[in-house]
Amino acid sequence: MKKQPAMTVIYSERMLAPAQGGSPSAAKPAEVVAGWKREGFSLRIVEPQPATLEELSLAHDRRYVEDVLELRHPNGFGTLDPAVAASLPYTSGAMLSGARIALAERSAVCAPVSGFHHAQWDNAWGYCTFNGLLVTALALRGAGLVRRVAIIDCDQHDGDGTTAIIDRLGASSWVHHFSTGAHFHRPSEVSAFFARLSSELRAIRDVDLVLYQAGADPHVNDPLGGWLTTRQLRTRDACVFEAAFEQDLPLVWNLAGGYQYDAAGGIGPVLEIHRNTALEHLRVFVQ
Ligand SMILES: [Zn+2]
Repeated sequence: MKKQPAMTVIYSERMLAPAQGGSPSAAKPAEVVAGWKREGFSLRIVEPQPATLEELSLAHDRRYVEDVLELRHPNGFGTLDPAVAASLPYTSGAMLSGARIALAERSAVCAPVSGFHHAQWDNAWGYCTFNGLLVTALALRGAGLVRRVAIIDCDQHDGDGTTAIIDRLGASSWVHHFSTGAHFHRPSEVSAFFARLSSELRAIRDVDLVLYQAGADPHVNDPLGGWLTTRQLRTRDACVFEAAFEQDLPLVWNLAGGYQYDAAGGIGPVLEIHRNTALEHLRVFVQ
């Protein structure tokens, strides 16, 4: 894999919606990208193409997709906010657009979106509505652009929606799914986690694409997490990125969860973790 002149980030305001309930995720991409721009990170911003009804319906019941988009079914935040519904084709679309670029350029791309891995075939929960990971994998496989895909899910929580949809579609023969949240939850498991992550990353050398959920909620101070330090999260990102670079695997990463607030009610602690992932991206993939 060749280093790139800048970090490609898939972003537009269409990916955004106001924060919903206990989750800052719907509004988070704007803060993340604004911070990276302010710091002068070397960025190439590319607008996402929205995922189509057909593409979303590869990973979901079509009726469910239509009901969510037309506000007859609550989104993953449990609301019927039209702004969230309008953003959803763009959040899954950001992942898919990023993957198309990563494949075409044999590179790594950031899609700073969240809200995928709990989404079920015909239901939403846990701040997740559509499974953009599987929408991406299925759309690209249907187009003949990939044969095998790895989903390396390092959010705090188990990617149970991903597992359920893979099982339903019989896709386990070509989707390599590793969900950290299914196996590791305690500081005493840090060494075992890194050993397992390393073996998972060696096991995916034959895939065509890696989708990496760089969740911020495993952080030791996260109210929904609690076992990895800031430094350990950064080491995690470095392990994934170095394995992709060395094995020449196109990769797209996204933000996933993160629920810490600072004293002023901002999401500074979460932004710091995502910033570290971006710094590792720049170190490994950018000239
Ligand atoms: Zn989570």
